[in-house]
Amino acid sequence: MNAVSKPGRLIIISGPSGAGKSTVVKTLLQRSDLPLELSVSATTRSPRAGEVDGRDYYFLTQAEFARRRLAGEFLECKEVFGRGDWYGTLRSVVGSGLERGKWLILEIDVQGALSIIDSENPITIFVHPGSMEALETRLRSRGTEEEAAIQRRLEVAREEMAQRHRYRHEVINDDLDETVENMCKLLKQYQNQREIDPCSKN
Ligand code: ADP
Ligand code: 5GP
Repeated sequence: MNAVSKPGRLIIISGPSGAGKSTVVKTLLQRSDLPLELSVSATTRSPRAGEVDGRDYYFLTQAEFARRRLAGEFLECKEVFGRGDWYGTLRSVVGSGLERGKWLILEIDVQGALSIIDSENPITIFVHPGSMEALETRLRSRGTEEEAAIQRRLEVAREEMAQRHRYRHEVINDDLDETVENMCKLLKQYQNQREIDPCSKN
């Protein structure tokens, strides 16, 4: 892969469930003038109300996910909450985005992110709401999970927070507008970097 044939970039955004990642990314896509594109992941979990196949996720059966996993179709994939639901980044989605010069945003969990940090040289950003209390409030206010699932997500969140130093950038999502503005500025730095060093990798 080189900057001429695949001029895109990979951006990894992680953070505990309920941190506001989807909200931040959605707003960032609307406001940034960079060629950002969200990488649509595959998952075996059921769609939530309003979620659309191919836009929010590729919703796959366990069997189809396993078949693709064995065929090596995922850049990374993980069983995220230890309850049997798999999530994964399809190589085809990333390849096509990079070919088109897109800055692909991978909104993925910490374990998945750490498994490709060294090989793919991504821009890595860890987003969190500042405290576990704020996180719990947001998870509950979203109202999409039952109590057991909320408890499991909080448990995973503590483990994920402990890994945040592995990311190049840490962003606290307190005020949404400020968060998005900070992320726009942060990403712009990489655009300038590319102009200075056109031979930089991916
Ligand atoms: P994630 O994608 O990280 O799981 P969501 O984007 O679904 O999180 O956000 C979780 C909840 O928190 C949602 O109800 C969302 O509207 C809310 N939220 C997101 N960002 C903020 C913010 N900056 N301040 C207050 N609430 C927020
Ligand atoms: P949700 O079920 O709330 O949509 O997502 C749950 C978690 O799965 C989030 O923390 C999100 O970052 C993670 N996730 C979503 N897509 C992927 C993926 O393709 N790979 C990995 N490893 N994690 C993902």
